[in-house]
Amino acid sequence: MIGAQSILVHACCASCASHVLTHLAGTYDVTAYFYNPNIQPEREYRLRLDEMRRVAGRIGVRLIEGDYRTLRWWKEIWIYRDLPERSERCFACYRHRFEVAARKAAELEIPVFTSTLSVSPHKVFERIAEIGAEAGASYGVAFLAEDFKKRDGFKKSVEYAREHGLTRQDYCGCLMSLEEARRRREERGG
Ligand code: SF4
Repeated sequence: MIGAQSILVHACCASCASHVLTHLAGTYDVTAYFYNPNIQPEREYRLRLDEMRRVAGRIGVRLIEGDYRTLRWWKEIWIYRDLPERSERCFACYRHRFEVAARKAAELEIPVFTSTLSVSPHKVFERIAEIGAEAGASYGVAFLAEDFKKRDGFKKSVEYAREHGLTRQDYCGCLMSLEEARRRREERGG
């Protein structure tokens, strides 16, 4: 978008990003940033990155691919590994990714950043907003705190995924969430 303000969008996966990128591209000059060392195992990471490339290309936004250094992520999450989803384990995971995204925005001289995480009903929007603002303040960039699941955002992302044949995984990304999903399936008898 010519003359529009630039924004860096931390993208967690193609499905969530499809709605957010389309929505923001109407207002901002959007750059997507795929930085997700939480996604494990590596073959799953590669699958989600491939899908992200296709969706960014289809929507017509620039995509920057972050590195995949899982050890750096584990160091910050390890002490919380036995906690359930939506606890300090996830908040530390948001923090790690948001700090790297805020640093990237500052490096690129993009004044605002945000994240697609709030599309998911499994994420805690209030914590996303707080942690995003803190990470932004550390690097001198603003965090756009928008709850992207609102106004049918989540529904639209599901519809986009269905229409374009994207994978809709039943786990968030880390090995703990993979195990939690396995237990849920077992409880359902599947
Ligand atoms: S469940 Fe998702 S947000 Fe929570 S720690 Fe795992 S990958 Fe991160």
